[in-house]
Amino acid sequence: MTTSSPEAARLSAPESGAPHIRTEIPGPRSRELHAQRTAAISDGFGVTLPVFIEKAHGAVLEDVDGNRFIDFASGIAVTSVGASHPKVVERVAAQAAKFTHTCFMVTEYESFVRVGEWLNAHVPGDWEKRTALFSTGAEAVENAVKIARRFTGRGRVLVFDEAYHGRSLLTMSMTAKEHPYKAGFGPFPTSDVVRVTNGNALRSGLDTAGALAEVERVLAEEGPETFAAMVIEPIQGEGGFNVPQQGFLSGLADLARRHGIVFVMDEIQAGLGRTGTLFASEHEGVAGDITLTAKALGGGLPISAVTGRADIMNAVHAGGIGGTYAGNPIACEAALAVFEVLEDPATLENVARIEQVVFERLKPLVDELPQVLDVRGRGAMLAIEFADPDLTPRPDLTTAISKACHQAGVLTLTTGTHGNVIRLLPPLIAEPELVAAGVDILVAKIKETLA
Ligand code: PMP
Repeated sequence: MTTSSPEAARLSAPESGAPHIRTEIPGPRSRELHAQRTAAISDGFGVTLPVFIEKAHGAVLEDVDGNRFIDFASGIAVTSVGASHPKVVERVAAQAAKFTHTCFMVTEYESFVRVGEWLNAHVPGDWEKRTALFSTGAEAVENAVKIARRFTGRGRVLVFDEAYHGRSLLTMSMTAKEHPYKAGFGPFPTSDVVRVTNGNALRSGLDTAGALAEVERVLAEEGPETFAAMVIEPIQGEGGFNVPQQGFLSGLADLARRHGIVFVMDEIQAGLGRTGTLFASEHEGVAGDITLTAKALGGGLPISAVTGRADIMNAVHAGGIGGTYAGNPIACEAALAVFEVLEDPATLENVARIEQVVFERLKPLVDELPQVLDVRGRGAMLAIEFADPDLTPRPDLTTAISKACHQAGVLTLTTGTHGNVIRLLPPLIAEPELVAAGVDILVAKIKETLA
């Protein structure tokens, strides 16, 4: 372990024993359990890698057959402080022993307030803020729209191409991709949710000014005074780790404010240290009127937050928002532990090192291999996109490469509108050596597949 590595990152590649593959993947016990799953659980749940996890530590997952995987998924950007950070474990255990739930709408507890205070102090935006806690990302998005409607007295929501905001009925409507998220689940409130270009640098054919002009044209056509909220991810997650073109987010913020539209920054995947700054919108010097967090917030426990301008957040009547489990006390304690880890400067320094070891291995592939279209992202939110030279997406390659990585003990995820992107989301505290070992395997599998 290097001295600059955050405490509790702990395991370098040799120390962790990962990757270590001792059976076929999935192994016999995982296969047995998977058969039982099929008999008990809805087929509607997909699975990236059908192995059952027995234990996990930092950035290493161990399955029930004793195979150890380098974790480039973090449970989809959730276990940013590692799979079982000692501070999270300690606070969770202590709180569970005191009480597990009261419902904050029935009787109050201090940790809910402390989580709100921390978010108010750290979320971008130089104004007085208030926070509301919920349980899932989709719930945070839904509540942001409710609050914006109540504040503006308007109904409609502006969203972007390739966006992902969740699986509930409203957030599914705000999500762009048809399959698997929307297929067969309509009808959708199509006149209330309006989609505009995201100015995708590789595929939209628009520069920042062109993309902003297009958004302005649609707003003018639809009537800007009909929109309550404009909701955008600072880096699109499920859409393919699309980094916005320089100036796009700040241009959108100006547009929204000019028309009295609440500007909502969905930092659910990209926020809380993931991109090397506390919030991804900081890279663009932009602040949402409302900022949404979830995923990494609870270190693995379900909790989400809506943090925004006090006048907007307080526009809702008492009892208008909430939820039985909203800001559960065990999840709040976990969030307070996550904040301690994020406040340690070594954590974001480690994210910068992760970015460096990944980019120095993946970026040369863009010139070396014609099917590698792009390597992009920020911090520990990094991706590689596969396409033919004429930009035809190659999801077959991402599937084959990802599968080969899984067999070799590296848990990668695919993403993207066209399913042709491999994304890397290691825990922020992952030892850079371990990340390097995993990326070396990824590079080898890319070269073998493209050979
Ligand atoms: N917004 C973004 C940007 C997300 O990445 C996600 C989850 N992938 C959500 C919202 C929805 O979060 P949840 O799955 O917790 O409802």
